[in-house]
Amino acid sequence: MAEDWKKLLSFRCTCCGNCCREPIVLVTDEDIRRVQAHTRQPAHKIVDFYKPSEIAWEKSQPGWIRLKSGRRIMGLKRTEAGCQYLGDDELCTIYEHRPVTCRRYPFDLEMGADGDIELLSISQSVECPYELDGENSLTEIKALADWEEKEEDPYFEKLEGWNKKKPRGGKKKFLKFLGF
Ligand code: SF4
Ligand code: SF4
Repeated sequence: MAEDWKKLLSFRCTCCGNCCREPIVLVTDEDIRRVQAHTRQPAHKIVDFYKPSEIAWEKSQPGWIRLKSGRRIMGLKRTEAGCQYLGDDELCTIYEHRPVTCRRYPFDLEMGADGDIELLSISQSVECPYELDGENSLTEIKALADWEEKEEDPYFEKLEGWNKKKPRGGKKKFLKFLGF
């Protein structure tokens, strides 16, 4: 790992809200369960299914769901202002219950085969006007990445099972398949 990664451990979020306004936040069934336990919303009010034209997500990347209406990605439902859980004060209204991706953001990391971090960077998915006068723990960042992987892997396995099904079902059937 290049030495200049260390300066990124001083990252401090300036709470601009860009990352909650602009991108579609991909979620797993476990994310839905956590949000649901707090908001009591039915799953279909928590998530939406986004078309390939709505998200910059390579066809080869995992997460695509084959529905009868076509290929879709499941992400948090949005309003015109961005994520439905973004408050007027630019803060997350479900902070303690937010998806794992939101917790790990904006750190991107790549792990080596030995489990060590090989690359740490700040996500380029949105403009992030951060400052470098904060303090972050590499151990905590890695724990979040591990948590994310632990929930993503079984979700992607479920998707593989669903995507083999014929005839294809719709959104309701997919959420039922996930246990909602
Ligand atoms: S769930 Fe919260 S942290 Fe995640 S995108 Fe929405 S508002 Fe932001
Ligand atoms: S884009 Fe960067 S600075 Fe803005 S809220 Fe997200 S993490 Fe914080």
